[in-house]
Amino acid sequence: MNCPKCGNSMQPGFLQAGNVIAFNKTRHRVSLNPKHEEDVMIARKAFTSTDFYGSVCKECGLIVFDYKNPISRL
Ligand SMILES: [Zn+2]
Repeated sequence: MNCPKCGNSMQPGFLQAGNVIAFNKTRHRVSLNPKHEEDVMIARKAFTSTDFYGSVCKECGLIVFDYKNPISRL
């Protein structure tokens, strides 16, 4: 896949996250829990971590990943 930002070839792989990962409309300082309707809780696990299929652009730093199909890491 080519980077939608700069057009360079992207490298496929896995975005590996800790227990909680969120995409929020505003920066939350303490809790990552949703505050706005637009906030997206991508993964929230008590004891495991979460990985996602994705692609990274090493040229400009953009990462594209599929947050609706997480892979559990035990
Ligand atoms: Zn790029």
